[in-house]
Amino acid sequence: MAQIEVKNLTYVYENGLDNAKNAVDNVNLSVENGEFICLIGHTGSGKSTLIKQLNGLLKPTFGQVFLDGKDIWTDTKKIREIRFRVGMVFQYPEYQLFDDTVYKDIAFGPVNMGLSKSEVEQRVYDACRFVGLSSDSLCKSPFGLSGGEKRKVAIAGVVAMDPEVLVLDEPTAGLDPFARDQLLSRLYDYNRHHGKTVILISHSMEDVARYADRVAVLNEGRLVMFDTTQKVFARARELNKIGLRPPQITMMMSALRESFPDLKEGILTVPEGVEAIINLIKNRSENLA
Ligand code: ADP
Repeated sequence: MAQIEVKNLTYVYENGLDNAKNAVDNVNLSVENGEFICLIGHTGSGKSTLIKQLNGLLKPTFGQVFLDGKDIWTDTKKIREIRFRVGMVFQYPEYQLFDDTVYKDIAFGPVNMGLSKSEVEQRVYDACRFVGLSSDSLCKSPFGLSGGEKRKVAIAGVVAMDPEVLVLDEPTAGLDPFARDQLLSRLYDYNRHHGKTVILISHSMEDVARYADRVAVLNEGRLVMFDTTQKVFARARELNKIGLRPPQITMMMSALRESFPDLKEGILTVPEGVEAIINLIKNRSENLA
């Protein structure tokens, strides 16, 4: 059974008004436990509206969202519990920090879950370590921290709830290259070594190529592709039509393949590309010798 299953999901803002349109339009998709899924699509394609329905922040206009086989809206009293199980990190999450210490901010979720004081403390320290935040920061005001550190506090607050699924809307936006690589490799670790499902909205096709098991592509609210990363990025022409493009390295390698058909197909990252070119040169020079 899929961990998350979305069936005929449609969301209409300003439902009933003349200008109502489907922000999410009859989407069907399922996500397996432990997958790393990336969600891509140009601005306004419905990505945020879709993910907000995964933990019940928005109620579908039509259709259903199932978590471990149960419709999340079957019992509206339990929707709070769903929000603990499907953790959501919004764009620029640091704007939602509000408490007077980092500790209290990270502890907010676990306290609301009704955990004991010692469990809360453990969760806060673990989450702090996970995001790479020094425990010296715990007694400081979050507002005095740097932008990157504030982002870590906000993400730690969600991780501290130990969600089964972690959903993030462009979590690296505005971070410097070092901080973004650090955050993405921690998410990858969270997924691969802690077995948690990650659903990531990203505009960086390079990041998507590096981390996703499968990629979901939205266009005008519709799910137009949902397949392995290699298969999605092999459809360059269709992606271009909806304002997206595969990673530069993938495009370069497929252009090279027109002259060198024995080059490996489906290259997604620079190290893979380098290896494929070296192999091509080696094979050719061996054949010449
Ligand atoms: P994305 O995350 O891909 O940028 P969104 O889910 O934010 O897309 O938006 C999908 C569509 O819904 C867009 O046309 C957007 O203008 C519209 N929309 C988003 N939020 C609201 C809202 N609160 N009220 C009305 N329309 C909205």
